[in-house]
Amino acid sequence: MAYDFDLFVIGAGSGGVRAARFAAGFGAKVAVAESRYLGGTCVNVGCVPKKLLVYGAHVADEMEQASGYGWTLEEGHFDWGTLIANKNREIERLNGIYRNLLVNSGVTLLQGHARITGAHEVEVDGKRYSAANILIATGGWPHVPDIPGKELAITSNEAFYLKELPRRVLVVGGGYIAVEFAGIFQGLGADTSLLYRGDLFLRGFDGSVRTHLKEELEKRGMDLQFNTDIQRIDQQADGSLKATLKDGSDRIADCIFYATGRRPMLDDLGLETTGVELDERGYIRVDDHYRTTEASIFALGDVIGRVQLTPVALAEGMAVARHLFKPEQYRAVDYQNIPTAVFSQPPIGTVGLTEEQALQAGHKVQIFESRFRAMKLTLTDVQEKTLMKLVVDADTDKVLGCHMVGPDAGEIIQGLGVALKAGATKQQFDETIGVHPTAAEEFVTMRTAIR
Ligand code: FAD
Ligand code: NDP
Repeated sequence: MAYDFDLFVIGAGSGGVRAARFAAGFGAKVAVAESRYLGGTCVNVGCVPKKLLVYGAHVADEMEQASGYGWTLEEGHFDWGTLIANKNREIERLNGIYRNLLVNSGVTLLQGHARITGAHEVEVDGKRYSAANILIATGGWPHVPDIPGKELAITSNEAFYLKELPRRVLVVGGGYIAVEFAGIFQGLGADTSLLYRGDLFLRGFDGSVRTHLKEELEKRGMDLQFNTDIQRIDQQADGSLKATLKDGSDRIADCIFYATGRRPMLDDLGLETTGVELDERGYIRVDDHYRTTEASIFALGDVIGRVQLTPVALAEGMAVARHLFKPEQYRAVDYQNIPTAVFSQPPIGTVGLTEEQALQAGHKVQIFESRFRAMKLTLTDVQEKTLMKLVVDADTDKVLGCHMVGPDAGEIIQGLGVALKAGATKQQFDETIGVHPTAAEEFVTMRTAIR
């Protein structure tokens, strides 16, 4: 049977665009349907605008440090409206670039909500298209727990378009987004509290990293409240919000920001017309080639709930395109040693096993750790400390994990990701000549194991 398309991609986000472009480049006839914004979460309400806001918040640090270097600055004034307008302009520019990338690759771009109507059929705005293969790349959506007054809270989606910077913010959650946005609000001048339900935020990250970041955020005056959660939210007569906590106490804020995880975006997707199954967590179940339980339908990225990061969605998109249309070039995505950064202030960079994971996996470990005040701060009054940590297998000398909290952690950890992928040993780290004077050189000069 002749189909309208070889591949019909639902969602023009990180993974969908990558799969569509490469499939078209391999000679396939490809369509992409997008209901909201070209570039998906990352470009519009994720990585990119988030990083721009982090840069904005970081300017406050630079200004604080300037006097140590002889600069006298006029009293700074921050205008949220300018930052958001400039950010929006940049996002629009990127939307245009994504459009060109797709159109110039020969992909048919359909604007509108796509609904699957059968194993080989998709409907967009009342029009039906047939396809040999369908790729679901619909991403995720913020999940807010079902508490009274939840509609008064915002999520990252709305935070990027707030009309003004709230004066008092409660951030709820303890993952990437909570920690990053707490840093943004605090850095830009809002009175910020972070409320997390567990003992310590960033569950799953290395214990030293979590403790170090906690201490640094407290030094910066952020109010961290652990073992706490909101029971209900009420609007007060003056427009402010009252959060009643589970212990019965309450807190007043102008903005309550929830970052309590994301759910797969499956709304009105028509999965019931197919044999696509979900896993026990509600994400789309796929095999090693991203094929769902319906043979002609594939899925990738946040909607399959493996590792919710843009570079992972990109790699999965590439794998699907190659698997379907260039099998001789197929390489499986390697989910080991994925480097990642949390753009908190200071930021975290990490790759490989945490100390806890290494021990749990049965490794005998040697731990190398260094805490120091970065050279840049020595002419200032800022007392922030940088943390660097190596987790090494004591039997094989292989470096199992590298962890950092401090300026440029994301930039530094990328290179160490290559070293870990290549299976570097601690001896090879030691034999690597440092770049002096940098903070990064500390990773190749830690000589004595602390345990
Ligand atoms: P998405 O990029 O979400 O794209 C899905 C697309 O599908 C969307 O455009 C959506 O509109 C569209 N869609 C959904 N349903 C339909 C439908 N039925 N019909 C048509 N179109 C549809 N990752 C990093 O690596 N680094 C970061 O710094 C980072 N920061 C982040 C910050 C925030 C605030 C958030 C929320 C996420 C961040 N991420 C970051 C995660 C990253 O954005 C995601 O992992 C990535 O975007 C997932 O790509 P995807 O292709 O699976 O889905
Ligand atoms: P995460 O899954 O990272 O964190 C969710 C947080 O919310 C956890 O601390 C969790 O606590 C808490 N939580 C979950 N449910 C509830 C609840 N019912 N009540 C109170 N707290 C709750 O999700 P995020 O939303 O922060 O981010 C989603 C994903 O997006 C990230 O995991 C990451 O993959 C990606 N991302 C990547 C970024 C980057 O690369 N820099 C930046 C932003 C997002 P607990 O730990 O106790 O379960």
